[in-house]
Amino acid sequence: MAAIATSPVRARVLGIPVNVSNDVFRDAVALHDAGGGQIVTLNAEMTMAARADPALGAAIENARMVIPDGAGVVWALGLQSRRVRRSPGIELARRLLEHAASCGWRVALVGASPAVMNRLRDRLMHDLPALKLVFTVHGYQTSEVWPGLESQLLQARPDLVLVALGVPRQETWIQGLPQPRSGLWMGVGGSFDVWAGTKKRAPAWMGALHIEWLYRLVKEPSRWRRMLALPAFVWAVLREPR
Ligand code: UDP
Repeated sequence: MAAIATSPVRARVLGIPVNVSNDVFRDAVALHDAGGGQIVTLNAEMTMAARADPALGAAIENARMVIPDGAGVVWALGLQSRRVRRSPGIELARRLLEHAASCGWRVALVGASPAVMNRLRDRLMHDLPALKLVFTVHGYQTSEVWPGLESQLLQARPDLVLVALGVPRQETWIQGLPQPRSGLWMGVGGSFDVWAGTKKRAPAWMGALHIEWLYRLVKEPSRWRRMLALPAFVWAVLREPR
């Protein structure tokens, strides 16, 4: 395995690792060139989930790159005097797609509903006509077909695989695939829904005020139980910053 190409500084928030980097795109491309690996986009909700779920915790621990996707993680790093910019996973994933189109990377997309995947393919072919999509599959397959799909995906030798199966499944699924495998493998949550135009991101002003969680709660009230993790995260960080 090539030398670690990601930012050498790995901090911890509530025991969960996160890379301290000021240019996650540069680090991701370097990781690809060094042989690839898993990229995790860490937010407060996922940090709390990882503390309670050993499989998710192990996936994050073993990932080659963990980026601070959420304002809560950036705040917690700030309490340790580590100044990092928030790096939303959806923005890194989009930049990597654009990079893939411009330099001929082979791209695979896994997850989201069949309708979202169809719209996404159409949109990407329109927006990035040079993009080499070597494998696409929606995320509502029966359990029997997954092993065959995984073999096809690995045989396609992708340089970039974006996986929208939701947390924690996308992280643990990537982690469980056979090694060695090259390319960048990244869980992207609801990004396909946003790119397909079926879901909206919170407006930029809410991001600036660090209240994207409020937008999400209003749009998807069924998430309220999951979102109780946010005050629990703040409380835990104040008691135990690292
Ligand atoms: N999804 C999927 N298969 C499933 C469950 C979910 O493909 O069995 C997709 C879902 O359609 C959506 C994404 O996974 O595109 C999860 O989005 P969400 O915003 O819930 O992500 P999270 O907040 O869990 O990261």
